[in-house]
Amino acid sequence: MSDYRVVTLPGDGIGPEIMDVAVAALNKASAAVGGLQITIDEHDASAGRWQRTGAAMSEETFEACRDADAILMGAIGLPEARHPDGREVNGDVIFRLRFALDLYAGVRPVRSLPGVRKTLATNEPIDYVVVRENVEGLYASRTGGTNVRNEVATDTIVITDTGTRKVSKVAFDIAMSRKGRPLDGRRMVSCIDKANVLSSYAFFRSVFDDAAKAYPEIATDHVYVDAMTAFQVQRPAHFDVVVAENMFGDIISDLAAATVGGLGMAASGDIGDKHGMFQPAHGSAPDIAGRNLANPAAMVLSTAMMLDWMGRRNDDDLAVQAGQLIDAAVLAVLAEGTTLTADLGGSASCSEMGEAIVAAITAAR
Ligand code: ATP
Repeated sequence: MSDYRVVTLPGDGIGPEIMDVAVAALNKASAAVGGLQITIDEHDASAGRWQRTGAAMSEETFEACRDADAILMGAIGLPEARHPDGREVNGDVIFRLRFALDLYAGVRPVRSLPGVRKTLATNEPIDYVVVRENVEGLYASRTGGTNVRNEVATDTIVITDTGTRKVSKVAFDIAMSRKGRPLDGRRMVSCIDKANVLSSYAFFRSVFDDAAKAYPEIATDHVYVDAMTAFQVQRPAHFDVVVAENMFGDIISDLAAATVGGLGMAASGDIGDKHGMFQPAHGSAPDIAGRNLANPAAMVLSTAMMLDWMGRRNDDDLAVQAGQLIDAAVLAVLAEGTTLTADLGGSASCSEMGEAIVAAITAAR
């Protein structure tokens, strides 16, 4: 019997709507594989909580997240919920968990999905993983920059040997588990940087190159971030796994999502050595919240990623299988094409698409 405790943080806006679908999918997949017990421990960490109580997350919730096998997050944040200096309060939850639990690798799979309308002119298949350094880089100085007399403002980029080595290792380990890039099946990790301009990025590259020596079976490549944005649009089949500093990873992963059907399809995991937090790449979408319109696919695919991660680190094939069932069910519903939400060109509600996914979990078995 595999037994896990997962803290769920539905959050704001469409978060609770898509989390309902994720929990139903988790329960169905656990029952389908048999012998997998997942206890859901739901907590309120949200901009709504901040508005009501002055704190987006309680200490009790933080401790529950710290002690859980994994964290599943819907979406946190409301545009109007801001600190006096303008920062959105969702950082109080997301950045706190990222830093305190050392979730140093942001993992975002990017792949062409059946039934999702093409956004690129190229017909190249897309199947790569963006690995973003999550706790250093330019965003490390969040709240620590300087502003002198409203005349001069600076932020400092932070690149460490340890952090770069750790995130590079995650990228190489992911490449080891994959079948290579769509172009020719070559397994490759590409380092995305701006080593031609800043010494900090040249350092990132040199540490990456050193980390690569432990993986002689994986090819490496270096791409300047500006060229990368063009390649993502023009020749995406050249990529297998890419690794980048925090801000560059943020930007290229959003672009990547747009090339494969938009934010409603983009899953993500924030992963460290001891903890993992999984959430769709999109935000709380207040414009469509409460209307049962949200596409639940990114949330459900993030749930499948969570099961895969929990299963692999615990040598537990049941959890890995449950993740595969959920992933296959989402692909089946997309390919079938009759129960899709409006962002995918359909007319189904969030709960209807969710029910179709949950129903397909048995069918996919
Ligand atoms: P954040 O800064 O919190 O990441 P954002 O400003 O990028 O958020 P989102 O909340 O992600 O904004 O929404 C961007 C647009 O994408 C909105 O028009 C929203 O309705 C749409 N959107 C986001 N997620 C979904 C979804 N799951 N289904 C359908 N549409 C979505």
